[in-house]
Amino acid sequence: MTNAVRSLLIAGLALCGPLTGYLNAQEEPPVVSPGSKAGQPPSDAIVLFDGKDFSQWEKVRGGEVGWKLEDGAMVVTRSGNIKTKESFGDVQLHIEWAAPAEVKGQGQGRGNSGVYLQGRYEIQVLDSYQNKTYPNGQAGAFYGNNPPLVNASRKPGEWQTYDIVFIAPKPGEDGKSVIPGSFTVFHNGVLIQNHVTVSGKKTTAAVLSGAAAKGPLVLQDHGNPVRYRNIWIRPL
Ligand code: MG
Repeated sequence: MTNAVRSLLIAGLALCGPLTGYLNAQEEPPVVSPGSKAGQPPSDAIVLFDGKDFSQWEKVRGGEVGWKLEDGAMVVTRSGNIKTKESFGDVQLHIEWAAPAEVKGQGQGRGNSGVYLQGRYEIQVLDSYQNKTYPNGQAGAFYGNNPPLVNASRKPGEWQTYDIVFIAPKPGEDGKSVIPGSFTVFHNGVLIQNHVTVSGKKTTAAVLSGAAAKGPLVLQDHGNPVRYRNIWIRPL
């Protein structure tokens, strides 16, 4: 072996060592097939509503869902909030909704509904197309907490999307403090909540008591015939 070849071999080994270490340091992420179109569920999602039935849902107060099924959508009737049978912690959620095409009422009385993560934290559903209300109560607001960054609403009757990343608040190591959660939300593809903090006195109490580790997804019946379709969730 010539000195030159030996030097090359040594250089090669020196390079391979760290590279192999680097490659082995992290697990390979699982393979997921994305939906065939934007908004369609990826292969690892739990489909909560595909337009066919309420098999994943029940009334918040128990019993069968009273909402209507119509043209592949669920429609709010005056029969109460509904919730998923399953409970969730940290999630990615996709949900599509439409305010009634026939415009009735104003402010909070127009196309009002809501998407509650863990049955606690509401991302507001409202017809906010040319409809003024208080900012932390308009469409896409973390209700009562944080207004959306912009109003990305479509016209009443048109389908709209929310893509939500929700990280639940969790108990801190000392058992007394709470690690805040967060909301990141896209409305019709537009970022409207950018890693907004989920915390507060009530939240702290619920988290520390263990009552807020997981919870169902709840959809609000506010008395307006809002429609929902294509709902899927990915526990994180
Ligand atoms: Mg609401």
